[in-house]
Amino acid sequence: VSHELRELYQEVILEHNKKPRNFHKMKDANHHAEGFNPLCGDRITLYLKLNADKIEKVSFEGSGCAISQASTSMLTATLKGKTVKEAEALFEAMHQMLHQQPGDPVPDGIGKLAVFSGVCEFPARVKCASLAWYTLKAAIKDKSDPVTTE
Ligand code: ZN
Repeated sequence: VSHELRELYQEVILEHNKKPRNFHKMKDANHHAEGFNPLCGDRITLYLKLNADKIEKVSFEGSGCAISQASTSMLTATLKGKTVKEAEALFEAMHQMLHQQPGDPVPDGIGKLAVFSGVCEFPARVKCASLAWYTLKAAIKDKSDPVTTE
């Protein structure tokens, strides 16, 4: 990754941290999960509105380091309108990218999430970037009743 690209990636992460997308509690969520990364103190709650296998809406609340909050913000921006299967494929791609060797090509289909490709060089921060994705997996499995019905 070139120096310029690295700086651009850093800017995108800082911008998402400053102005997180979909940062609110979702009243009509029918799935949610909480995620906590004790190594860094990152906390998030992820809300999903699933309709059959489609992610109609996704939002979050949380606090923590820039990487954790930007990663969750980008997850919500990326997953809206996608299917659960597509979300799981992105989880796998993200997992692969965060555990690859620095300089390896990013996985196919990773799209804008490539901004986190540099995190694999900092093992201590991998959990910051992956927290949102593990919380997503838990939220998809969550069988709780809707918070409110429509
Ligand atoms: Zn963190």
